[in-house]
Amino acid sequence: MAPALKDAFPLPFTGDDRPTGYRLVRSDRKTLAIQVRAGQEVLVRAPKRLPQEEIDAFVRSKAGWILQHWQRAPRQPVDYSPQQEARLRQLAKAQLPPLAERIAGDLGLRYTRITITGARTRFGSCSAKGALSFSFRLMAYPMDAIEYVVLHEVAHLKHLNHSPAFYQLIARHMPDYQRRALLLKQAPPPLTDL
Ligand SMILES: [Zn+2]
Repeated sequence: MAPALKDAFPLPFTGDDRPTGYRLVRSDRKTLAIQVRAGQEVLVRAPKRLPQEEIDAFVRSKAGWILQHWQRAPRQPVDYSPQQEARLRQLAKAQLPPLAERIAGDLGLRYTRITITGARTRFGSCSAKGALSFSFRLMAYPMDAIEYVVLHEVAHLKHLNHSPAFYQLIARHMPDYQRRALLLKQAPPPLTDL
């Protein structure tokens, strides 16, 4: 199946935001090609008989490019009914401001405002002016994942990047953040009770 990619990425790419594998398609072609597709799929096209080590070496040599495109590629979004969206928005409005307030307090940081959005491709963001925004889609995930996203965006109030210092700050306040972040790479649990 998917050859492992996680070792292809050197520091500082050891955070939550990196691909863990790629899909290999061999065909009658002469060159190697890499594509990062919507849904965050890394697709590698290779000649039929090219040895696996050569493919892996090629992928490693393109790790920076892959990572950059992967982080920008949209996740596979879920379609919610209007009723489900209304319920998720309600949850977001009720739960995210107090959570952000508490986490920002713990870190000694301040934000200017919180907005709930319908963003399909990212769960949260933090502007240079200190405004936080969160997608209502986040609320379909377990609280462990929600807390991670809020901490992630609050930490951007101090580091507006994904540097090692940024992840160190997160790890100090949430030692198990990598496990939590992985929850977001999966489809959310179905909203049967909404
Ligand atoms: Zn971020």
